[in-house]
Amino acid sequence: MQLPLTQRVITIMNTDLDINKYIQLRHKIHKLPELKYEEAKTAQLVATTLKNLGYLVSEGLGKTGVVGLLDTNRPGPCIAFRSDMDALPIHEQNCIPYKSTIDGKMHACGHDGHTASLLCAAEALMQRKDRYKGKIKLIFQPAEEGGAGAKAMIDDGVLENPKVDMIFGFHNRPGFEEGYIFAKPGSAMGGDTSIEVIITGKGGHAAMPHLARDPIVIAAQFINNIQAAVARQLSPLCSGVVTVSSIQAGSRKGINVIPDSCSLTISLRSDSLETRNLLVAATENALKSACMTGGCDFAFNLLLDIPALINDPAATDLAIAAFKNNFDHGKVEKIDYMPAMGAEDFSFYLNEISGCYFFIGNGLNSAYLHNPHYDFNDAIITVAKDCYLSLADSLLS
Ligand SMILES: [Zn+2]
Ligand SMILES: [Zn+2]
Repeated sequence: MQLPLTQRVITIMNTDLDINKYIQLRHKIHKLPELKYEEAKTAQLVATTLKNLGYLVSEGLGKTGVVGLLDTNRPGPCIAFRSDMDALPIHEQNCIPYKSTIDGKMHACGHDGHTASLLCAAEALMQRKDRYKGKIKLIFQPAEEGGAGAKAMIDDGVLENPKVDMIFGFHNRPGFEEGYIFAKPGSAMGGDTSIEVIITGKGGHAAMPHLARDPIVIAAQFINNIQAAVARQLSPLCSGVVTVSSIQAGSRKGINVIPDSCSLTISLRSDSLETRNLLVAATENALKSACMTGGCDFAFNLLLDIPALINDPAATDLAIAAFKNNFDHGKVEKIDYMPAMGAEDFSFYLNEISGCYFFIGNGLNSAYLHNPHYDFNDAIITVAKDCYLSLADSLLS
């Protein structure tokens, strides 16, 4: 049996704040989930909270992003902490008092919890600002879920004025012990490249294929050939995935018709830019050669390109050491395996500056991310807040 939340929470850092306020705030955000680039109400709540805490607030970066700046007015580095704010197009199936009030939308990835955790840290950091030098930038970004919100924020200058030297952020991880903190140097999450392919042949009668150029047969050859990309072209020491996720051609009504064209979508996952480049080239080559054989034309369009998340080894060591200063050593670990091939657009920040994206266990029994039964574990708001304080203490004291 789990202990009540108040007895489970380990408040390790000496701060005078009411955690319940941030648990309530998390529930408020959970009730009103907003999809990518529509986070207007969440952004407003974040901006108001930051202003009330005394932060200098900028709004509308990356369309709906919010940034809070704490300037100690003492020379020193500028570090950034980042949370995402968007929800998912999933219908919540939890029976909880703060269940989503919007049909078909829910916080199924815990970005409500990430936001509440960073706001909680915002209050604690402001309380401790006299012990710091330099600047702290708190980034609340939109559209992490397939919208490259991080890139939109960077394009709007989030890493400039003042220039950010290092960035940190976290994601909760179901299936890991509540409050267990871990990070991996180097490749830590997969790159996500979405491709649309259109094969154009020549339509005709199903009984006279010699007068047509059948795009379905060419698509079938392409699909078979591309399976060899990971198995035969990629080094066994690298990680990659090629999934053909949809195929559309013809119609059930036109059972005696060879269609003109066939379109497919492909999801590539990669552990580095090199793997991504190899798989994109292999996919395009397999398509080219199949189309050449069958006399078809093709279009090859990149729809989304999230880079693999590569943690700076020095920043990862620094973060692990900072956490070990304040947490039970058994609760903090530097891992040497990639915990998932899922993508995370925090990688865009890490392509620009040094930093580390770490994980906090959401509980062994937590439903997995993007599941209609998932819920962020409120107990880790304190853990996340203390992780951020550990980093600020270590870098700005
Ligand atoms: Zn997600
Ligand atoms: Zn997420």
